[in-house]
Amino acid sequence: MTEFSDRVERISISGIREVFEAASEDDINLGLGQPDFPTPDHAREAAVEAIRAGEADAYTENRGILALREAIAEKHERDQGIDVHPDDVIATAGGSEALHIALEAHVDAGDEVIIPDPGFVSYDALTKLTGATPVPVPVRDDLTIDPAAIEDAITEDTKAFIVNSPGNPTGAVSPGEDVKEFARIAKEHDVLCISDEVYEYTVFEGQHHSPMEFENGGNVVLVNSASKLFSMTGWRVGWVTATSERVDRMLRVHQYAQACTSAPAQFAAEAALTGDMTIPADMTESFERRRDLLLSGLEAAGIDCPKPKGAFYAMPEVPEGFVEECLDRGVVVVPGEAFGEQGKGRVRISYATDEAELRKAIEIMQDAYEAVSE
Ligand code: PLP
Repeated sequence: MTEFSDRVERISISGIREVFEAASEDDINLGLGQPDFPTPDHAREAAVEAIRAGEADAYTENRGILALREAIAEKHERDQGIDVHPDDVIATAGGSEALHIALEAHVDAGDEVIIPDPGFVSYDALTKLTGATPVPVPVRDDLTIDPAAIEDAITEDTKAFIVNSPGNPTGAVSPGEDVKEFARIAKEHDVLCISDEVYEYTVFEGQHHSPMEFENGGNVVLVNSASKLFSMTGWRVGWVTATSERVDRMLRVHQYAQACTSAPAQFAAEAALTGDMTIPADMTESFERRRDLLLSGLEAAGIDCPKPKGAFYAMPEVPEGFVEECLDRGVVVVPGEAFGEQGKGRVRISYATDEAELRKAIEIMQDAYEAVSE
């Protein structure tokens, strides 16, 4: 048998999958990273109409249909107050492909990429696939990404750093002053800041900021996605926004790896971005209610958990054996080490689950915690 590439041998199936494989169908799954809301009807309808009209049969422009890119540019104006040309956007197959092309287009073997620890599992794996070395940097005790730690980790081999707010797996939201710092660091050290903003609309306290608001030197690639903004994880539409030069390089990767994002999904995403925003608003309200429910349940059991300010994850500190005790009792949570060395001693709880189930799961987690603390 022929050998595999060294790059692929450096990565493995995510630790999250391993937990799911150990779970049974009847378990309450607090491991899933997706909103439990339907995709907005107007988005579904737009895809159906495009299919019926025969508009979604052929390849689209590599970078995506103009109407979608215009909708994304308008979104940037509306949400960040930044002026983006629709040609400086590439529609991708979700935030996942967006991260992939951002790294492929900027990073070489031997380079270093600074990533948050704990952080989203793809940062480590996609960096390794480029042949570069991920450099995990611990988040603060409140689980926010620390700009000073990023700056300290910069070496002459650093090509990029990835920031993510609101954060997965932490639920942490970076305050404006930290986001400004990310922009300054990118500019001063001339390293690329890849800003993963896929949970942008799920902020409970404070406000979402993007380094792109503060960095006009072009050292930011913004990654976003319809997946979590509009509960469209199955549609596979995301995007990158950057300067024309960077978009040109990322487009080379996207063109050969993907040709274009699925056409019906592009029509759906355009409609989601330009249509009624009730679902994103309802989701945020509902996640905040569930966050409060979870936090009070954890607190009642004496489990220490930094207060998540966004996304739909919490990352409490737990004793060894907690994940297994939960699993034995029918609740799935993800061990923190799946997200990096610093995640050890924590678990990620996704509370994007039915409220009645969540209440049941909280009681079970309280029992599990008691059992392992004895
Ligand atoms: N970035 C973060 C932080 C995520 O949590 C996820 C998905 O879980 C992604 C990117 C990828 O999103 P998508 O489903 O749009 O590929």
